[in-house]
Amino acid sequence: MNRISLKEGISLLKNEDFISLGKKANEIRKSLHPDGVVTFIADTNINYTNICNSKCLFCAFYREEGDEDAYTMEIEEIVKKIKEARERGITTALIQGGLNEKLPYNYYLEMMEKISNLGVHIHIFSPPEIDLLSRISGKNVEEVFDDLIKRGMKSMPGGGAEILSDKVRKKISPKKINSDRWLEIMEIAHKKGLKTSATMMFGHIEEIEDIVEHLEAIRKLQDKTHGFTAFIMWDFKEKNNKLGEKIGKRSSPYNYLRLLSFARIYLDNFENIQASWASQGMEIGELALFFGANDFGSLLFEENVMKEAGFRITSTIENIARTIRKNGFKPALRDTFYNIIKYL
Ligand code: SF4
Repeated sequence: MNRISLKEGISLLKNEDFISLGKKANEIRKSLHPDGVVTFIADTNINYTNICNSKCLFCAFYREEGDEDAYTMEIEEIVKKIKEARERGITTALIQGGLNEKLPYNYYLEMMEKISNLGVHIHIFSPPEIDLLSRISGKNVEEVFDDLIKRGMKSMPGGGAEILSDKVRKKISPKKINSDRWLEIMEIAHKKGLKTSATMMFGHIEEIEDIVEHLEAIRKLQDKTHGFTAFIMWDFKEKNNKLGEKIGKRSSPYNYLRLLSFARIYLDNFENIQASWASQGMEIGELALFFGANDFGSLLFEENVMKEAGFRITSTIENIARTIRKNGFKPALRDTFYNIIKYL
C-alpha cells in the first residue's frame, strides 16, 4: 500500500466507514505480525511526585505544593517499590512525575543512579520532564541526556504528547512544552540511542485535522530516527479535572477503535501499536486486536494517573495471557524494546 499523505489522511478519517477502516488496519496488522503473537509487558508505574507547575486542564493527577495530598517520594521509597515489584515478577518500571520545579537536578541524577541496577528495566521521564531538567540545571537537552545515560537511562516513555497541535495545546496545557519542543527532545533522545514510545490522548477539543497533524509529526520523525518502538493512544478521562467540567463526557469505544485503525494505517513506519486495555477497558482492548493493535500494553502493577480520574482496572499476567489466547492469538511477555522474553 502506498503511503497516504496528510491531505488524504484527513479525507480518509473524515469519510471512510468504521468497518472498512478496521478491515484495512487488521490486514496491516496481519502482514506485519503474521505469527499471531500478541505481546505485553509486566510493568509497574511509579509517579515520584504529584506536585506540578504545569496544571494541565485535563489532568486529575497533579497537586499544588501545600495541598494535603501533595507528595514527593524519597529516593529510598522508589527503590523499595522497584524491589517489591521485582519480587512479583515485574520486569520494567515506568517512572514519571509532575513538573515539580522545587526538586533539585541532583534528585533526578541520584534517583537514576540508585534505581538503574536493581534488575528491573527503568523506562523513565518524558519530554516535558527532560525540558524541566534542562531548565533547572542550566544544561542543554543533550547534556541532560548524557548525565542520565551515564547513570543507566536506556529508554523514555512518550508522555506529554497529548495532541501535537499547538492550537490544541494552548487550550488544554498552555504551560507545557509546545509540539516542536516535544519533537525536538524526542529526536535528541533517539540520536542518543534511547528508544521511546509515541503517545496520543484524544477525545477532548481536538478535530480530525489535529489528529492527522499529530500522526504526521511522529511519522516524519520516525522516518528520520527510527527511534519509536510503538504507538499508544488513549482517550481523555473527564472526571476530577477542569477540562472535564466543561466537556462533561468521554469519547466512545467507536471513536477509539476508529482512530486506532486509522493510526495503524497512517503510521506505516511503526511496527507496534498497543491496545490500551487499561485505559479503555478489557473488552475494548480485546476488540482493538482486530482493529490494528498487535500488543496488549502493560500489566500496570501500580498505576496512579488514571486512578485519580476515577478509572481503574487491574489484571494479572495469567489473566492477560488467557484473554489474548481466547481471542485466537498467542500471548508472549516482552521487554521495553519489544523483544520476546517468553511465550505463555
Ligand atoms: S499532565 Fe503531567 S504536566 Fe500536566 S499537570 Fe498533569 S502531571 Fe503536570
